[in-house]
Amino acid sequence: MTANLIPSYGHWINGAEVPPESGNWIETSDPYRGTVWARIARGGPQDVNRAVAAAKAAMTTGPWAKMSATQRGKILRRIADATLTEIDRLTELEVRDNGKLVGDIRGGLNFKADVWTYYAGLADKIEGSVLPIDKPDMLALTFREPVGVVAAITAWNSPLQFLAVKCAPALAAGCAVVVKPSEFSTVTSLEFARIASAAGLPDGVLNVISGFGAEVGPALVDHRDVAMITFTGSDTTGARIYEQAARSMKRVTMELGGKSPNIIFEDANLDAAAAGAVSGIFGAAGQMCTAGSRLLVQNSVKEEITRRILAIARNVKLGDPMDAATQMGPISNRPQFDKVLSYIEIARHDGALLIHGGKPAQGEGLASGSFFEPTIFADVRNDMRIAQEEVFGPVLSIIGFDTEEEAIHIANDINFGLAAGIWTKDMGRMIRMVKAIDAGTVWGNTYRTYSFMMPFGGRKRSGLGKEWGIEGMEEFLDTKSVMISTADVLPGFVPG
Ligand code: NAD
Repeated sequence: MTANLIPSYGHWINGAEVPPESGNWIETSDPYRGTVWARIARGGPQDVNRAVAAAKAAMTTGPWAKMSATQRGKILRRIADATLTEIDRLTELEVRDNGKLVGDIRGGLNFKADVWTYYAGLADKIEGSVLPIDKPDMLALTFREPVGVVAAITAWNSPLQFLAVKCAPALAAGCAVVVKPSEFSTVTSLEFARIASAAGLPDGVLNVISGFGAEVGPALVDHRDVAMITFTGSDTTGARIYEQAARSMKRVTMELGGKSPNIIFEDANLDAAAAGAVSGIFGAAGQMCTAGSRLLVQNSVKEEITRRILAIARNVKLGDPMDAATQMGPISNRPQFDKVLSYIEIARHDGALLIHGGKPAQGEGLASGSFFEPTIFADVRNDMRIAQEEVFGPVLSIIGFDTEEEAIHIANDINFGLAAGIWTKDMGRMIRMVKAIDAGTVWGNTYRTYSFMMPFGGRKRSGLGKEWGIEGMEEFLDTKSVMISTADVLPGFVPG
């Protein structure tokens, strides 16, 4: 398809669509059909400068800067409503751009509307304090102020989710944002910025710059008028951004990868545990940061659990992500597909036993070549690369254990600490395990249950800081300490 037959999406800067300064564009593909369906602007430092200048102006001289917090909240509520009004169009675009299942995207958009509503309600509940300090002649106050212009750099697997959980709290706090979505799925972030503008968000408050990470990212991270980076992506890119941001002492939050343990004890409800294990790794074709990719199973029930999981995995329906009957869609982009494939060889080489899948899926409706079979390795040791490294695809590693202590050791013996699942009917054991697991989120007798009211974030190489909940908004606020003398005398010089 030639460029002029497909839709083009420029950057979104200061409330308008803007072509790239360089005049260059990037083609974007539909992973289900395997064809180019749109082109996006290829951004660079000049585009970044324009977007940051618009955001800074919005925060300093624009209507956003003068608006009451209640008014800000009202606009966020209108954005929530507009998300629902536009749900069909946004769903179709998101499915097309990253291949996720239509039901997941639609359900996710309802969730995102709730996220916007939640932070809309918090906007005018940001309060400072009066402190009874040790100086009687001083009025001591704290103000909670927006941290400044925020750069939000996001991954490809859930663009609108990242936009909601970063921008809604940042905007509630009074910040302005420049979003840099992944080059693999950009369109919905641009569309969403347009929708937010139409809902009444003042120009410059939400800007979107598209392009490659290496060409847009460093200019954003280095920019002196950017106060904070909120990042979702791989630990490798996160570490690079963290180092770069340190040079100008910027605040960062990092939502990074994981290799989460899903732990099944012999006394668990085995039906529920097997279903939780399957949805924990094959949901979204495993392209989830919280994927339960290490299945730790007590040896006494390992055979039984493996049998049940295999029975489910054999019947997973792959196909068109727009078809409501499809259970697993394509891998979202070619580099990710190649990465999944490469880990099959790595796992085999290290001695893991492939018991299901392990190759590109073929069959009717899978012609694009982007589908991968649900894959299960047994006899995995926790020191193998397949157990230690994030694949970000539908690949499960089963690891046996005998005792609670051994399960804790294996679960924590990893560089990541994003999430964990525990399946047991013994509540004493449940509580001991919850306390012992070194992860930001722990699920008991469930997996992948989310609420925007619960803080979410990782430990170790899984990240830094929190998103969601009230803590998610606190990240975008800074405290100013104010002391005003009430004494009628000149201050003297106090040594020490
Ligand atoms: P990635 O790190 O390759 O890219 C993420 C973003 O960073 C993209 O927008 C990319 O263009 C940009 N980028 C790349 N190089 C950059 C640079 N030098 N400077 C600034 N920006 C740069 O990650 P990905 O492949 O898009 O996403 C998959 C990863 O995201 C997985 O590791 C997954 O676990 C993680 N993830 C984490 C969460 C979470 O909440 N913890 C959620 C979803 C995904």
